[in-house]
Amino acid sequence: MAVIGFIGLGHMGGPMSANLVGAGHTVQGYDLIPAALEAAARRGVTTVGSVAEAVTGAEAVITMLPSGKHVLECYDEVLAAAEPGALLIDSSTVDVADAREAHERAEKAGFGSIDAPVSGGTAGAEAGTLTFMVGGSEEDFRRAEPLLEPMARKVVHCGGPGNGQVTKMCNNLILGASMVAVSEAFVLGERLGLSHQALYDVASISTGQCWALTTNCPVPDLVETSRANHDYEPGFAASLMLKDLRLASSAAEQSGTDIQIGRLATELYRRFTEEGGGDLDFGAIIKSIREHSGA
Ligand code: NAD
Repeated sequence: MAVIGFIGLGHMGGPMSANLVGAGHTVQGYDLIPAALEAAARRGVTTVGSVAEAVTGAEAVITMLPSGKHVLECYDEVLAAAEPGALLIDSSTVDVADAREAHERAEKAGFGSIDAPVSGGTAGAEAGTLTFMVGGSEEDFRRAEPLLEPMARKVVHCGGPGNGQVTKMCNNLILGASMVAVSEAFVLGERLGLSHQALYDVASISTGQCWALTTNCPVPDLVETSRANHDYEPGFAASLMLKDLRLASSAAEQSGTDIQIGRLATELYRRFTEEGGGDLDFGAIIKSIREHSGA
């Protein structure tokens, strides 16, 4: 069993670190917020008072932080104090350029390094059923795999440094755009006298079928697993979808890629968030489409 440093014990990092403890690892956890530390301690994490203490004696260090800026700042401290040859695993969702910079810095300082963002949300973090999308060398991937396993349903090696973030961003571009399309279809149907059930019965077994329709349907009472049935309590918050769509839009700009639907989806989630919907599940975008349709 390993000693693992875990930095960032929030909505995701809290339950993820608890699952590592459950698998028998010793987890040295650190967060800036005392309440996050206390909650982690109740779940068996050995809480400490600094990044340096979290990484001391650890063969792997996992970061689960809000953004690339937080990760790079934190890496200054991690690189200065981690054990020689330790494996650095960043599971935060960050800009591809930031992920590649983190890799470079880690490699220069003699550490193994992977970017390993996740999908599956807080429910997946609790249940230990996240999907990890890993970027980095084959050797570092092989080292990381058994450590990620207690938190994962699936761990996929997506290629070299940064490719985990590229995969995550591309997946969420599909998800954000498809949720908007499904929501627009329901609102258009409503306005033309079509029942939600009729549209669902056909689209769910036809070419309109997709996760946004059949697992997290934006209309309540059609699909058991949908957050719409719980007043759109997330699930995956609209503000986080906006974050991921912005990462995709900015990567598209930097790489000269023409992602028009992605940009429109970003704009719609920006508007919804500004109108106060950021804390709702991302399926609640249907409310905004309805409102702007004058319904
Ligand atoms: P969160 O805000 O709940 O947790 C982040 C934690 O990091 C906070 O507790 C904060 O205090 C801590 N932190 C910030 N800077 C720190 C520092 N320098 N040292 C120690 N701790 C520090 O966020 P979250 O929902 O847990 O998300 C974490 C990451 O996972 C984000 O990048 C997010 O995009 C990604 N993600 C979230 C979800 C989700 O459903 N919440 C799903 C997939 C991916």
